[in-house]
Amino acid sequence: MTKSWSMPPGKAQRVRPGFDLAAVDASSTPGWEHGRSSAESKLEADGNRLSEVQERLYAHGRTGGSRAVLLVLQGMDTAGKGGIVRHVLGMVDPQGVQLHSFGVPTERERSQHYLQRIREALPAGGRIGVFDRSHYEDVLVVRVNELVPREVWEPRYDEINAFEREVVDSGTVIVKVMLHISQQEQKARLRERLERPDKYWKFNPKDVDERAKWPAYQEAYQAVLDRTSTEHAPWHVVPADSKWYARLAVGALVLAAVESLDLDWPPADFDVEAETARLDAQPF
Ligand code: ADP
Repeated sequence: MTKSWSMPPGKAQRVRPGFDLAAVDASSTPGWEHGRSSAESKLEADGNRLSEVQERLYAHGRTGGSRAVLLVLQGMDTAGKGGIVRHVLGMVDPQGVQLHSFGVPTERERSQHYLQRIREALPAGGRIGVFDRSHYEDVLVVRVNELVPREVWEPRYDEINAFEREVVDSGTVIVKVMLHISQQEQKARLRERLERPDKYWKFNPKDVDERAKWPAYQEAYQAVLDRTSTEHAPWHVVPADSKWYARLAVGALVLAAVESLDLDWPPADFDVEAETARLDAQPF
């Protein structure tokens, strides 16, 4: 028997007014009281279910439907965004997933509005889009490192809310997740990258510099949660010191989002009986 949540996962991590990031224990597992191995079995079961509903979503898109799901992943370096993509989205048919990673804007991207590259990457109908980093970098790294003056980033929160409203109105369910790790866990993960030759490629000396700005980042994240957790696109803070918990929780959030579309298989746009008769009439 697979174990279940003591509180629906969407509820356990949802950011509501008055939410205090500093008060969240990054090693906690809200809503899940059964430990790791039960979580892994549950994730596997959720994965099977996700694969099923995702196929229905894909079929919907292939027949002209416009509904989609967009998972927005944010978190400090080493928070585990890549692992989520591998473990959660790895459970579904890759052709139904549209993954996009947002790095330092290219010259072309810098010359246009910051939301333009985001718009271009929005999932097509029938897809599960995943943003590994997103437009939120424009009020996170940009704010912390003062890449543009305050007068420029300050209005972005409202602009982002309006943009997401538009995306939701076009038929996309947005699931926003901040993977929340502790400073100690980040240090341990960076250290591991320095200790294991198979992890060197993941190490970026810049991450050590960014670490020094931890309080400024937490403040910038708190502002994001305060100002952009809306009814139409709420934030979820997922404690991520335990990778297994983060994967279980994000898997559940994505599953709930796809299920919320409540899609049926698309009906045939041809005469089933006539086509069956035609096929059977062929001698080979
Ligand atoms: P990751 O750290 O996610 O594995 P990268 O090493 O490619 O991937 O890092 C992407 C970098 O791009 C991060 O340091 C991030 O802060 C930066 N970045 C993303 N979006 C922006 C932006 N809009 N402006 C400036 N920097 C950005």
